[in-house]
Amino acid sequence: MGYRYDDQNIFAKILRGEIPCDNVLETEHSLAFRDIRPQAPVHVLVIPKGPYVTYDHFALEASDAEIADFTRAVGQVCQQLGVQPGTGGSGYRVISNAGGDGVQEVPHLHVHIMSGRMLGRMVSAG
Ligand code: AMP
Repeated sequence: MGYRYDDQNIFAKILRGEIPCDNVLETEHSLAFRDIRPQAPVHVLVIPKGPYVTYDHFALEASDAEIADFTRAVGQVCQQLGVQPGTGGSGYRVISNAGGDGVQEVPHLHVHIMSGRMLGRMVSAG
């Protein structure tokens, strides 16, 4: 079965300018904005502008230009936020939830960049 993109999801509405966001970075193919319910002092979402549901969808079907732009956007956001451990930042975590087991709420690919506190172990059940 192919990927089915729902263009009424909240991030599609942000991309169309129908609802506002707290913009952090915009590039040709990507957008970054602050999470509305932050789970860490720094909590930014990076999304591609294209209609991709999950990370695997994007990784398999996006163009090389979109993938390069998105990957660079994640790096630029980390740089902008000053979280890179290599340059004195306190570190961060990048997460992308997909589907049921991943507990994905919004069906438009996004990576969470979280920082600013000790984030604990990678996964906790429940
Ligand atoms: P996920 O479970 O990975 O799909 O997480 C979706 C994230 O989107 C959650 O952390 C929400 O707080 C966040 N979110 C939902 N609506 C908005 C919005 N309008 N602006 C910014 N972040 C949002």
